[in-house]
Amino acid sequence: MLTGIGIMLLTFVVMEVVAWVMHKYVLHGFLWFLHKSHHTRHNHAFELNDLFFAWYGTLAMLFFIFGSEPLDYRFWIGAGITLYGVAYFLIHDVFIHRRIKAFGRTSNVYFKALNMAHRVHHKSSGKDGSESFGMLWVSPRYFKAASEVVNKKDKRGAVHH
Ligand SMILES: [Zn+2]
Ligand SMILES: [Zn+2]
Repeated sequence: MLTGIGIMLLTFVVMEVVAWVMHKYVLHGFLWFLHKSHHTRHNHAFELNDLFFAWYGTLAMLFFIFGSEPLDYRFWIGAGITLYGVAYFLIHDVFIHRRIKAFGRTSNVYFKALNMAHRVHHKSSGKDGSESFGMLWVSPRYFKAASEVVNKKDKRGAVHH
């Protein structure tokens, strides 16, 4: 069980690396025709880019199927992929892109930094010229920028009280 949870957490971390590589070299590479929908402004509920959820969902399902009866490490890899998918959806789709209005503003430096980094990614609407391809890992410079914004707000708050 403990080993299982370890495999699951490791898979979660590996998935961030996989997502980064995929995003930088595949989505902004030969699968740009699918990912393009996510870099274009629109008012549809879904994008072609959402197919990637189906892809990772199918992958996780296969791991679950082959890793149960008897339960083995593949089950936990499936669990790690699923956990990452849920985190990715909550952060990228709900928190950053607000596809579902569930979260308000935050003064949490990490979440602010995530948001900033991803907004920079979206600055470019073309295949090339984007940066910050990761999701949960954020470059230290965004942490710095985010904590400056949070500190400024704190100071302003103090003047009014
Ligand atoms: Zn992109
Ligand atoms: Zn995005």
